Amino acid sequence: VESWQYFISLSLAQALAATLLAWVFHRYWRVYARPYLGVWSLGFLALSFHLLGSTAAHFMAISGLGAHPIRTPLSLLSLTLAYAHVALILIGVRALELGQPPRRRLLLAAVAVAAVVGTVSVLAFTRDPAAFGARVLMRVGLRDGITGLAYVITALLLLRTAQARQSYGRWLAAMAFAVYGGALTLGAGLMLAETVAGPLLPLIAYQAAFHPVAMLMLGLGLVIWLLEDERARALAARQEAARMSLHDPLTGLANRRHFCATLDRSLERPAQAEARHAVLAIGLDRFQAINNAYGSEVGDRVLVACAARLATSDPHWQLGRLEGDQFALASAAAEGEAPLRLAQRLQSLLDQPYRIGTQDLHVPASIGLALSPEDGQDAERLLNNAQLALRQAKRLGGHGLQFYAPSLNDQARRRLSLQIELRRALAENEFEAMFQPVFRARDGRLAGFEALARWRHPRHGMLAPDRFVQALEEIGLLVELDLLIVERALVQLARWRQDSGEDISVSVNLCARSFQRHDLPERMEAMLRAHGLPPACLAVEITESSALDDPAASRRTLDRLSRHGIRVWLDDFGTGHSSLAQLLRLPVHGLKLDRSFLDPDGDQPRQGALVAATVQLATDLGMQVVAEGVESERQAEFARGRGVALLQGYLFGGALAASEAGLLVSRARQASGRVA
Ligand code: C2E
Ligand code: CA
Ligand code: CA
Repeated sequence: VESWQYFISLSLAQALAATLLAWVFHRYWRVYARPYLGVWSLGFLALSFHLLGSTAAHFMAISGLGAHPIRTPLSLLSLTLAYAHVALILIGVRALELGQPPRRRLLLAAVAVAAVVGTVSVLAFTRDPAAFGARVLMRVGLRDGITGLAYVITALLLLRTAQARQSYGRWLAAMAFAVYGGALTLGAGLMLAETVAGPLLPLIAYQAAFHPVAMLMLGLGLVIWLLEDERARALAARQEAARMSLHDPLTGLANRRHFCATLDRSLERPAQAEARHAVLAIGLDRFQAINNAYGSEVGDRVLVACAARLATSDPHWQLGRLEGDQFALASAAAEGEAPLRLAQRLQSLLDQPYRIGTQDLHVPASIGLALSPEDGQDAERLLNNAQLALRQAKRLGGHGLQFYAPSLNDQARRRLSLQIELRRALAENEFEAMFQPVFRARDGRLAGFEALARWRHPRHGMLAPDRFVQALEEIGLLVELDLLIVERALVQLARWRQDSGEDISVSVNLCARSFQRHDLPERMEAMLRAHGLPPACLAVEITESSALDDPAASRRTLDRLSRHGIRVWLDDFGTGHSSLAQLLRLPVHGLKLDRSFLDPDGDQPRQGALVAATVQLATDLGMQVVAEGVESERQAEFARGRGVALLQGYLFGGALAASEAGLLVSRARQASGRVA
């Protein structure tokens, strides 16, 4: 009697605990709207009803109502609920892990499986009245065994994630599942053993005492877990809010406040205090018109695309979105031309149309520039001034660039207009080659010419390279000029060689970028072939800095040029700071001594020694030497005396037009004719 009273009161206590948990989870489910809470609530409700049902069935059995027709359906329902409980707990854990509500189909399938297992375990062995032990084993033992195993598996899964996430709630829940599952599995095992071997120790009774304890522990663990989860979410939300308060939600860029704070920090850094800071305010022209015409959704996409372009412009510049269609960039150590160059690069970057859907939208930009310390020493002042300059740029018709300081605008405008003019000049073929003769030192015979670029400006007349080479280089068009001069030079050379039969050559100047083009040797070779010229009559002049810019790549180009038979001169030799040893290791055919070597005001004995040593060194290495800038007979004598092979300078002639150079060629022929 004591035994059944003990069991029934234990079951009722468990049922009460399960109902309590179901209620708690239901409440939380209503508050937090998390699907897994609903699932657990249902799960514990099922457990509670199962316990009530099985207690009732048990009670009926001991009250002599064991054969009552209601007992079988009651057991059936009760066991189905027991299995449904297990399934729902597992589904809830899974839903929590995934952060997603379980599928309706999964829930229905779980209930169906529970019903099948429940039915089978109730109906098994009912035919055989003697198989009482087997029946109990099927109903209670199987239930406890399955539940126990499921709990142990859940415990292991939870323990793993508990460690990974350092969650105390998961840990407690895992322990509860482990205790509960362990007790149930142990009970099922004992029951099996008793069925086989007869009554053992009263352990079954003791293990059952763990059930309500484990259940309360489980409830507590799950609630703590929930709170931890809730706290993590709150934390994430707070971080997101913090991020949002610093960043623009549309483009993800720093907002004005954040931009200013970062810039101020940079301005205050002692190491940077001396450095110049530049702030660029960038505004999209016609953005409002786009917004009006295509709607704000298209406008937003343009802004996002624009932000992405700006983000690729330069990683050293700090980027932000100020308001509406205005962005800003800032950088410390923006010395010299850096801000202007960046601004121009940005403008051409933003000139590209935006492909939105099927349309190409042109949304060019205007830029305002402010520089510290002149235009302000704190972020707010600099930014405001950059925006003032931006407004001015827009007032002047847009697609422009304005400095806050008016004096800088003149310079910038001059440079910009020069660059625009240069593009036009290239397109309209305003560049030409002039030719400076080079003579043999030994007998004064014409050896060839150096082609020098000139710009025949429609208003300013003939302009020398110092007026355009650097600007062309900055806009990346010097390469085009170089190749154009090569072509012009070869046209002339072919004509002169044909007319005179003289073996004269021509050299052309190449900037670093031209020289580093990987297709340069092949292009030159093709041009030579087109004019029917032998490669040895063309030489390229490169400077130390361009040769040593990327020594490995230079060596490759030089080797390929040599293989084609094109000669290479090292120009302005002696003006750089490069290592002589490094230079002389390059496969070049000759050196052009800079005219500073012949400086008449220089220390003559010292220069003489230097030139003599250089010539000696070059000759030993199989190179020829040209003396540049020979302006007087004395200088020519000086160079000749030191073993220089070729002379070039105003003494013999400056840069000549092609026709004048042609006269020199025919005079050379007459001279050689006379000699012959
Ligand atoms: P560079 O290669 O050293 O060319 C020699 C420069 O010295 C030429 O100036 C020439 O007119 C000048 N010169 C010649 N003889 C004398 C002299 O006796 N005394 C003085 N004081 N100067 C003399 P230019 O034509 O103004 O060219 C200047 C520089 O522009 C050239 O220096 C070269 O580096 C560059 N350059 C010229 N044409 C081209 C070109 O087609 N492509 C490239 N990338 N650069 C070029
Ligand atoms: Ca040269
Ligand atoms: Ca030179």
